Amino acid sequence: MSAAQAERFIRALAAANPKPETELRFTSPYTLLAAVMLSAQTTDVAVNKATATLFQVADSPAAMMALGEEGVAEHIRRIGLWKAKARNLITLSQQLLDRHGGEVPADRAALEALAGVGRKTANVVLNVAFGEEAMAVDTHIFRLGNRTGLAPGKTPREVEEGLMKRVPPDLLRDSHHWLILHGRYICKARLPECWHCVARTECNYADKVLWPPPR
Ligand code: SF4
Repeated sequence: MSAAQAERFIRALAAANPKPETELRFTSPYTLLAAVMLSAQTTDVAVNKATATLFQVADSPAAMMALGEEGVAEHIRRIGLWKAKARNLITLSQQLLDRHGGEVPADRAALEALAGVGRKTANVVLNVAFGEEAMAVDTHIFRLGNRTGLAPGKTPREVEEGLMKRVPPDLLRDSHHWLILHGRYICKARLPECWHCVARTECNYADKVLWPPPR
């Protein structure tokens, strides 16, 4: 895909959704970090259900420590990998208290040094909480980057670097949302809904699905 085509692709997504937002519910950098960490291999809907009660009783590192691992587990038992996530949430909260005075650091290395926090989670927090032009590549963006020709890569890091180069600077911050939402609801893994895709004319995918399947 040419640079001009990539720009038109992103601008088409932007025009269709001028104010994109994360679907995870949060009230602070800490609750955002916790929600993103909990969302690994789980839907945002399931995480929002769990955090609706969890954040009522614990929306800060100190409150999470007071709740304890067992208490956290009671709220998140319905989401995948809940045992490890409960443990990580407690460890992460302790680390924030010990290293950062209970605040979430606006720094990639410091974020990635926290329990359960990888590059993707750090990128979401840097982008959404701190306004940085970071591109978190999840399974949807990885698929979309390769399928459309927008930013092909063998690893999420390669796709991330490709997108950082291809996306116009003025659209970089919100592109994370546009691409995730597009992959989640339109350019789906099994059946991309090309018949109502706003970026269809710019997409290089050879097997576009131009008509909805019969019901
Ligand atoms: S045309 Fe189809 S494959 Fe291409 S971006 Fe749109 S939904 Fe995805």
